[in-house]
Amino acid sequence: MNLISDRLIQSQVPLASQTSYRVGGKAQWYAAPRNWEQLEACFDWYQAQDIPLTLLGAGSNMLISDSGISGLVISTRYFRSYEFEEETGLLMADAGEPIAKLAWKAAKRGLKGLEWAVGIPGTVGGAVVMNAGAHQQCLGDILVSATTLSPDGKIEELNPQELNYSYRTSNLQGTNKLVIRAVMQLQPGFTKADMMQLSSANWTQRKTTQPYHLPSCGSVFRNPQPRAAGWLIEQLGLKGYKIGDAEIAHRHANFILNCGAATASDIFHLIRYVQEKVEYHWSVALEPEVKLVGEF
Ligand SMILES: Cc1cc2nc3c(=O)[nH]c(=O)nc-3n(C[C@H](O)[C@H](O)[C@H](O)COP(=O)(O)OP(=O)(O)OC[C@H]3O[C@@H](n4cnc5c(N)ncnc54)[C@H](O)[C@@H]3O)c2cc1C
Repeated sequence: MNLISDRLIQSQVPLASQTSYRVGGKAQWYAAPRNWEQLEACFDWYQAQDIPLTLLGAGSNMLISDSGISGLVISTRYFRSYEFEEETGLLMADAGEPIAKLAWKAAKRGLKGLEWAVGIPGTVGGAVVMNAGAHQQCLGDILVSATTLSPDGKIEELNPQELNYSYRTSNLQGTNKLVIRAVMQLQPGFTKADMMQLSSANWTQRKTTQPYHLPSCGSVFRNPQPRAAGWLIEQLGLKGYKIGDAEIAHRHANFILNCGAATASDIFHLIRYVQEKVEYHWSVALEPEVKLVGEF
Protein backbone atom coordinates (compact mmCIF):
# COMPACT_ATOMS: atom_id res chain seq x y z
CA MET A 1 0.00 0.00 0.00
CA ASN A 2 1.40 3.43 -0.94
CA LEU A 3 -0.07 5.65 1.75
CA ILE A 4 0.61 8.89 -0.10
CA SER A 5 -0.73 7.91 -3.54
CA ASP A 6 -3.70 6.26 -1.78
CA ARG A 7 -4.19 9.63 -0.03
CA LEU A 8 -4.29 8.06 3.43
CA ILE A 9 -1.44 10.42 4.22
CA GLN A 10 -1.78 13.88 2.64
CA SER A 11 0.58 16.82 2.60
CA GLN A 12 -0.06 20.46 3.49
CA VAL A 13 -3.54 20.03 4.97
CA PRO A 14 -5.11 23.15 6.56
CA LEU A 15 -5.95 22.59 10.23
CA ALA A 16 -7.77 25.77 11.31
CA SER A 17 -11.21 24.26 10.63
CA GLN A 18 -10.28 21.30 12.86
CA THR A 19 -9.71 23.47 15.92
CA SER A 20 -12.23 25.31 18.09
CA TYR A 21 -10.13 28.52 17.77
CA ARG A 22 -10.41 28.38 13.96
CA VAL A 23 -6.80 29.53 13.60
CA GLY A 24 -3.47 27.95 12.71
CA GLY A 25 -1.58 26.79 9.65
CA LYS A 26 -1.20 23.49 7.83
CA ALA A 27 -0.06 20.02 8.79
CA GLN A 28 3.07 19.07 6.85
CA TRP A 29 1.62 15.53 6.73
CA TYR A 30 -1.90 14.59 7.82
CA ALA A 31 -3.84 11.36 8.24
CA ALA A 32 -7.33 10.58 9.51
CA PRO A 33 -7.38 6.77 9.56
CA ARG A 34 -10.75 5.05 9.49
CA ASN A 35 -9.80 1.80 11.13
CA TRP A 36 -7.13 -0.01 13.11
CA GLU A 37 -5.35 -1.29 9.98
CA GLN A 38 -5.04 2.22 8.52
CA LEU A 39 -3.83 3.58 11.86
CA GLU A 40 -1.12 0.91 12.08
CA ALA A 41 -0.09 1.70 8.49
CA CYS A 42 0.21 5.41 9.41
CA PHE A 43 2.33 4.53 12.45
CA ASP A 44 4.58 2.28 10.33
CA TRP A 45 5.05 5.13 7.83
CA TYR A 46 5.77 7.58 10.65
CA GLN A 47 8.34 5.24 12.19
CA ALA A 48 10.22 5.05 8.90
CA GLN A 49 10.56 8.87 8.82
CA ASP A 50 12.46 11.01 11.29
CA ILE A 51 9.67 13.50 11.96
CA PRO A 52 7.54 14.62 14.92
CA LEU A 53 4.06 13.24 15.60
CA THR A 54 1.01 15.21 16.78
CA LEU A 55 -2.25 13.57 17.85
CA LEU A 56 -5.41 15.54 17.18
CA GLY A 57 -8.87 15.10 18.69
CA ALA A 58 -11.45 17.86 18.20
CA GLY A 59 -8.73 20.51 18.57
CA SER A 60 -10.70 22.21 21.35
CA ASN A 61 -7.69 22.57 23.62
CA MET A 62 -5.04 23.41 21.06
CA LEU A 63 -3.52 26.60 19.72
CA ILE A 64 -1.83 25.67 16.46
CA SER A 65 0.83 28.06 15.18
CA ASP A 66 0.14 30.12 12.04
CA SER A 67 3.14 28.38 10.48
CA GLY A 68 1.48 25.01 11.03
CA ILE A 69 2.80 21.74 12.39
CA SER A 70 5.83 19.95 11.02
CA GLY A 71 5.79 16.18 10.84
CA LEU A 72 2.71 13.96 10.86
CA VAL A 73 -0.65 14.89 12.40
CA ILE A 74 -3.01 11.96 13.08
CA SER A 75 -6.65 12.82 13.66
CA THR A 76 -9.03 10.46 15.49
CA ARG A 77 -12.09 12.08 13.87
CA TYR A 78 -13.26 8.82 12.25
CA PHE A 79 -12.85 6.65 15.36
CA ARG A 80 -16.54 6.70 16.10
CA SER A 81 -18.60 4.11 17.87
CA TYR A 82 -20.00 3.66 21.35
CA GLU A 83 -22.03 1.22 23.37
CA PHE A 84 -23.94 1.62 26.61
CA GLU A 85 -24.52 -1.39 28.85
CA GLU A 86 -27.57 0.05 30.55
CA GLU A 87 -27.88 -2.54 33.34
CA THR A 88 -24.31 -2.18 34.57
CA GLY A 89 -23.80 1.46 33.55
CA LEU A 90 -20.68 0.69 31.51
CA LEU A 91 -19.96 2.94 28.53
CA MET A 92 -17.46 1.86 25.89
CA ALA A 93 -16.52 4.61 23.43
CA ASP A 94 -14.00 5.13 20.65
CA ALA A 95 -11.57 8.02 20.88
CA GLY A 96 -13.22 10.27 18.28
CA GLU A 97 -16.69 10.29 19.86
CA PRO A 98 -17.73 13.75 21.11
CA ILE A 99 -17.85 13.57 24.91
CA ALA A 100 -20.78 16.04 25.12
CA LYS A 101 -22.89 13.88 22.80
CA LEU A 102 -22.26 10.86 25.05
CA ALA A 103 -23.18 12.94 28.11
CA TRP A 104 -26.62 13.70 26.65
CA LYS A 105 -27.08 10.06 25.54
CA ALA A 106 -26.20 8.87 29.06
CA ALA A 107 -28.71 11.31 30.59
CA LYS A 108 -31.45 10.01 28.27
CA ARG A 109 -30.73 6.50 29.55
CA GLY A 110 -30.92 7.59 33.20
CA LEU A 111 -27.19 7.01 33.71
CA LYS A 112 -25.30 9.33 36.07
CA GLY A 113 -21.65 10.31 35.96
CA LEU A 114 -21.12 12.18 32.69
CA GLU A 115 -23.53 15.11 33.14
CA TRP A 116 -20.61 17.50 33.81
CA ALA A 117 -19.47 17.04 30.20
CA VAL A 118 -22.51 18.52 28.42
CA GLY A 119 -20.68 21.70 27.39
CA ILE A 120 -17.24 20.27 26.63
CA PRO A 121 -16.59 20.31 22.87
CA GLY A 122 -13.82 17.68 22.79
CA THR A 123 -13.56 13.97 22.03
CA VAL A 124 -13.31 10.98 24.34
CA GLY A 125 -9.58 10.69 23.52
CA GLY A 126 -8.93 14.36 24.34
CA ALA A 127 -10.93 14.07 27.56
CA VAL A 128 -8.90 11.03 28.67
CA VAL A 129 -5.60 12.78 27.95
CA MET A 130 -6.63 16.12 29.50
CA ASN A 131 -8.60 14.62 32.41
CA ALA A 132 -11.35 16.98 31.29
CA GLY A 133 -13.79 18.09 33.95
CA ALA A 134 -16.34 20.59 35.15
CA HIS A 135 -18.79 21.06 38.02
CA GLN A 136 -16.28 19.49 40.48
CA GLN A 137 -16.16 16.24 38.51
CA CYS A 138 -13.70 14.93 35.97
CA LEU A 139 -13.07 12.06 33.61
CA GLY A 140 -10.72 10.36 36.08
CA ASP A 141 -13.73 9.85 38.41
CA ILE A 142 -15.48 7.54 35.95
CA LEU A 143 -12.72 6.04 33.80
CA VAL A 144 -12.29 2.29 34.13
CA SER A 145 -9.60 1.97 31.48
CA ALA A 146 -8.20 3.55 28.34
CA THR A 147 -6.70 1.52 25.52
CA THR A 148 -3.69 3.08 23.83
CA LEU A 149 -1.67 2.16 20.75
CA SER A 150 1.93 3.33 20.42
CA PRO A 151 3.69 3.87 17.08
CA ASP A 152 5.77 0.71 17.69
CA GLY A 153 2.53 -1.31 17.84
CA LYS A 154 2.38 -1.70 21.63
CA ILE A 155 -1.18 -1.90 22.96
CA GLU A 156 -1.83 -1.00 26.60
CA GLU A 157 -4.93 -0.97 28.72
CA LEU A 158 -4.39 1.65 31.41
CA ASN A 159 -6.43 2.35 34.54
CA PRO A 160 -6.69 5.80 36.22
CA GLN A 161 -3.84 5.02 38.66
CA GLU A 162 -1.56 4.13 35.75
CA LEU A 163 -2.54 7.38 34.02
CA ASN A 164 -1.46 9.31 37.12
CA TYR A 165 -4.46 11.60 36.98
CA SER A 166 -4.59 14.98 38.67
CA TYR A 167 -6.18 18.35 37.83
CA ARG A 168 -6.39 18.49 33.97
CA THR A 169 -3.37 16.22 33.80
CA SER A 170 -2.48 12.67 32.83
CA ASN A 171 0.85 11.11 32.03
CA LEU A 172 -0.31 10.59 28.42
CA GLN A 173 0.34 14.28 27.75
CA GLY A 174 3.49 14.73 25.72
CA THR A 175 3.68 11.05 24.73
CA ASN A 176 2.96 9.43 21.35
CA LYS A 177 0.45 6.96 22.80
CA LEU A 178 -2.81 7.29 20.92
CA VAL A 179 -5.96 6.67 22.95
CA ILE A 180 -8.12 4.37 20.86
CA ARG A 181 -10.97 3.65 23.21
CA ALA A 182 -12.14 4.22 26.77
CA VAL A 183 -14.41 2.37 29.17
CA MET A 184 -16.33 4.48 31.69
CA GLN A 185 -18.42 3.39 34.66
CA LEU A 186 -21.67 5.33 35.02
CA GLN A 187 -24.30 4.78 37.69
CA PRO A 188 -27.56 3.19 36.57
CA GLY A 189 -30.90 3.56 38.35
CA PHE A 190 -31.67 7.25 37.84
CA THR A 191 -34.63 8.55 35.89
CA LYS A 192 -34.29 10.11 32.46
CA ALA A 193 -36.19 13.17 33.74
CA ASP A 194 -33.80 13.74 36.66
CA MET A 195 -30.68 13.28 34.55
CA MET A 196 -31.97 15.52 31.75
CA GLN A 197 -32.79 18.20 34.30
CA LEU A 198 -29.31 18.02 35.85
CA SER A 199 -27.62 18.07 32.43
CA SER A 200 -29.75 20.99 31.23
CA ALA A 201 -28.96 22.92 34.42
CA ASN A 202 -25.22 22.36 33.85
CA TRP A 203 -25.54 23.46 30.22
CA THR A 204 -27.55 26.58 31.15
CA GLN A 205 -25.05 27.51 33.86
CA ARG A 206 -22.18 27.25 31.37
CA LYS A 207 -23.94 29.26 28.68
CA THR A 208 -24.70 32.05 31.11
CA THR A 209 -21.21 32.25 32.64
CA GLN A 210 -19.01 31.39 29.64
CA PRO A 211 -18.85 32.84 26.12
CA TYR A 212 -19.96 30.18 23.64
CA HIS A 213 -20.78 32.64 20.84
CA LEU A 214 -17.24 33.02 19.44
CA PRO A 215 -14.35 30.59 18.83
CA SER A 216 -12.17 29.83 21.87
CA CYS A 217 -10.38 26.97 23.61
CA GLY A 218 -12.38 27.29 26.82
CA SER A 219 -10.19 28.17 29.80
CA VAL A 220 -6.79 29.31 28.60
CA PHE A 221 -4.95 28.96 31.91
CA ARG A 222 -4.98 26.29 34.59
CA ASN A 223 -6.39 27.61 37.85
CA PRO A 224 -3.49 28.31 40.24
CA GLN A 225 -5.29 26.54 43.10
CA PRO A 226 -6.88 27.69 45.32
CA ARG A 227 -7.38 30.79 43.17
CA ALA A 228 -9.17 31.03 39.84
CA ALA A 229 -7.17 32.35 36.88
CA GLY A 230 -10.24 34.23 35.61
CA TRP A 231 -10.59 36.13 38.89
CA LEU A 232 -6.90 37.15 38.91
CA ILE A 233 -7.19 38.43 35.32
CA GLU A 234 -10.52 40.19 35.91
CA GLN A 235 -9.17 42.07 38.96
CA LEU A 236 -6.53 43.64 36.68
CA GLY A 237 -9.27 45.13 34.50
CA LEU A 238 -8.20 43.09 31.49
CA LYS A 239 -11.67 42.01 30.30
CA GLY A 240 -12.12 43.28 26.75
CA TYR A 241 -8.36 43.82 26.22
CA LYS A 242 -7.45 42.99 22.63
CA ILE A 243 -4.41 42.14 20.57
CA GLY A 244 -5.30 42.04 16.89
CA ASP A 245 -8.66 40.29 16.79
CA ALA A 246 -8.05 38.21 19.94
CA GLU A 247 -9.93 39.45 22.98
CA ILE A 248 -10.15 38.62 26.69
CA ALA A 249 -13.82 37.75 27.05
CA HIS A 250 -16.12 40.09 28.94
CA ARG A 251 -18.16 37.15 30.22
CA HIS A 252 -15.21 35.13 31.58
CA ALA A 253 -11.68 36.52 31.86
CA ASN A 254 -10.02 33.10 31.49
CA PHE A 255 -11.37 32.86 27.93
CA ILE A 256 -9.59 34.42 24.95
CA LEU A 257 -11.93 34.79 21.98
CA ASN A 258 -11.23 34.85 18.28
CA CYS A 259 -13.44 37.79 17.32
CA GLY A 260 -13.35 36.83 13.65
CA ALA A 261 -9.96 37.50 12.14
CA ALA A 262 -7.57 36.63 14.98
CA THR A 263 -4.36 34.79 14.14
CA ALA A 264 -2.67 32.23 16.36
CA SER A 265 0.02 34.85 16.86
CA ASP A 266 -2.56 37.37 18.20
CA ILE A 267 -3.80 34.78 20.69
CA PHE A 268 -0.29 33.75 21.67
CA HIS A 269 0.76 37.35 22.32
CA LEU A 270 -2.36 37.93 24.40
CA ILE A 271 -1.53 34.81 26.46
CA ARG A 272 1.98 36.15 27.09
CA TYR A 273 0.61 39.63 27.92
CA VAL A 274 -1.79 38.21 30.52
CA GLN A 275 0.98 36.05 32.02
CA GLU A 276 3.24 39.11 32.39
CA LYS A 277 0.52 41.24 34.00
CA VAL A 278 -0.57 38.52 36.43
CA GLU A 279 3.03 37.72 37.36
CA TYR A 280 3.78 41.40 37.95
CA HIS A 281 0.68 42.19 40.04
CA TRP A 282 -0.03 38.87 41.79
CA SER A 283 3.36 37.11 41.68
CA VAL A 284 1.55 34.14 40.21
CA ALA A 285 2.92 32.31 37.16
CA LEU A 286 -0.14 31.33 35.13
CA GLU A 287 0.37 28.09 33.24
CA PRO A 288 -1.53 27.59 29.97
CA GLU A 289 -4.03 24.72 29.95
CA VAL A 290 -4.27 25.08 26.16
CA LYS A 291 -1.60 23.14 24.27
CA LEU A 292 0.61 25.38 22.14
CA VAL A 293 1.50 23.37 19.06
CA GLY A 294 4.12 24.37 16.48
CA GLU A 295 6.53 27.32 16.48
CA PHE A 296 5.57 30.55 18.27
C1 LIG B 1 -16.02 26.46 24.75
C2 LIG B 1 -15.09 25.49 25.41
C3 LIG B 1 -15.35 25.08 26.71
C4 LIG B 1 -14.50 24.18 27.35
N1 LIG B 1 -14.77 23.77 28.63
C5 LIG B 1 -13.99 22.86 29.23
C6 LIG B 1 -14.28 22.41 30.56
O1 LIG B 1 -15.25 22.81 31.18
N2 LIG B 1 -13.46 21.49 31.12
C7 LIG B 1 -12.38 20.99 30.45
O2 LIG B 1 -11.68 20.14 31.01
N3 LIG B 1 -12.06 21.41 29.21
C8 LIG B 1 -12.83 22.33 28.59
N4 LIG B 1 -12.51 22.76 27.33
C9 LIG B 1 -11.26 22.33 26.69
C10 LIG B 1 -11.38 21.05 25.83
O3 LIG B 1 -12.69 20.88 25.33
C11 LIG B 1 -10.94 19.82 26.61
O4 LIG B 1 -9.60 19.92 27.04
C12 LIG B 1 -11.09 18.53 25.77
O5 LIG B 1 -10.95 17.41 26.62
C13 LIG B 1 -10.09 18.44 24.64
O6 LIG B 1 -10.50 17.37 23.78
P1 LIG B 1 -10.11 17.41 22.24
O7 LIG B 1 -10.61 16.15 21.63
O8 LIG B 1 -10.57 18.66 21.60
O9 LIG B 1 -8.53 17.37 22.33
P2 LIG B 1 -7.48 18.22 21.46
O10 LIG B 1 -7.62 19.66 21.74
O11 LIG B 1 -7.54 17.78 20.04
O12 LIG B 1 -6.12 17.69 22.12
C14 LIG B 1 -5.81 17.99 23.46
C15 LIG B 1 -4.57 17.16 23.85
O13 LIG B 1 -4.91 15.78 23.84
C16 LIG B 1 -4.14 15.07 22.87
N5 LIG B 1 -5.05 14.10 22.24
C17 LIG B 1 -6.28 14.34 21.71
N6 LIG B 1 -6.85 13.19 21.34
C18 LIG B 1 -5.96 12.20 21.62
C19 LIG B 1 -5.95 10.77 21.49
N7 LIG B 1 -6.99 10.10 20.98
N8 LIG B 1 -4.87 10.07 21.93
C20 LIG B 1 -3.80 10.72 22.47
N9 LIG B 1 -3.72 12.06 22.60
C21 LIG B 1 -4.80 12.78 22.19
C22 LIG B 1 -3.60 16.11 21.91
O14 LIG B 1 -2.39 15.69 21.32
C23 LIG B 1 -3.42 17.30 22.85
O15 LIG B 1 -2.22 17.18 23.56
C24 LIG B 1 -13.35 23.68 26.67
C25 LIG B 1 -13.10 24.09 25.35
C26 LIG B 1 -13.96 24.98 24.73
C27 LIG B 1 -13.67 25.39 23.31
